[in-house]
Amino acid sequence: MNGEFDLIARFFQRTSRRRSDVTLGIGDDCALVSVPQDQELALGMDTMVEGVHFLADTRAANLGHKALAVNLSDLAAMGACPAWATLAVTMPAYDEQWLGDFSSGFLELAERFDVQLIGGDTTRGPLCITVQAHGLVPTGLAIRRSGAAVGDAILITGTIGGAAVALRAMRGQLAMATGLRDLLQARLERPQPRVAAGMMLRGLASAAIDVSDGLAQDLGHILLASEVGATLWVDQLPHHEIMAAGLSRDDAVTTALSGGDDYELCFTSPAHRIPVIQAKLEGLGVAVTEIGRVEEAPGLRLRGDDGLPFRGRSTAGYDHFS
Ligand code: ADP
Ligand code: MG
Repeated sequence: MNGEFDLIARFFQRTSRRRSDVTLGIGDDCALVSVPQDQELALGMDTMVEGVHFLADTRAANLGHKALAVNLSDLAAMGACPAWATLAVTMPAYDEQWLGDFSSGFLELAERFDVQLIGGDTTRGPLCITVQAHGLVPTGLAIRRSGAAVGDAILITGTIGGAAVALRAMRGQLAMATGLRDLLQARLERPQPRVAAGMMLRGLASAAIDVSDGLAQDLGHILLASEVGATLWVDQLPHHEIMAAGLSRDDAVTTALSGGDDYELCFTSPAHRIPVIQAKLEGLGVAVTEIGRVEEAPGLRLRGDDGLPFRGRSTAGYDHFS
């Protein structure tokens, strides 16, 4: 076996997906792709480090899925359509089983979103995976973090807090029914990027972000970039799954605000567009919930259905350097 090159050919070049806009895929010094004239190229990159982003015993197929999923989620948050990906794998040893499972998880998701793996890098070292996803968005239509306006509604897709609760269950800190535990663990290990929802929100959402580090923190990025503030109605958060797992109201709210890894889309939009957005997302099978309002006063205020300010534990999200 010719080491590194054979490995690449065996595990990463076997992608069945071939896009017509890829002039040159894996195998040369660079890949070549063509970008349509009326489109902008959206580029995003995310790294996953063992022990930081995933537990050491995480199944390789789930890692492959998640490494790509979190990147497609960033494209979704911009309203971009995924097209290509590059993949850098650093691993401690040549492990056929691991590589086969990892590449299957990655390539299955790629196939589902018509993404072609067009290149990457393979090195030896502590397990670490970096993916760059490349997407296309009609020029000028990308949804940025900076577009939220005073009076806009704040909305979120799906449910939140599930990934954080799954982590607690896996660490033995929380017991729950097997069915629910499996569902939440899938949220953590096999997140489903909201690609169709993001593309549908072009021209409808004023700002968007994907929730990777916790809703309070990620919404905070929209507020800062847009130079506005907001009130969140904490009892309106879509946290019914983690309530079903037996969390108290305060725990569920705090977890929904601070738990990361949900990869739902949090976005803002003028309130009059909500019915259209709801109908279109429903058509995609994606639930959406209105959870607050953009306001002029800077900062994020948390209010319960009782009208009182919510004071839980810290709702700070994940920060690698704090
Ligand atoms: P170079 O030495 O020119 O950087 P490499 O030996 O790193 O080339 O890679 C050879 C080819 O295989 C390149 O086209 C590169 O993009 C691709 N490649 C390497 N590792 C991966 C990977 N993990 N996934 C996909 N493509 C890869
Ligand atoms: Mg290289």
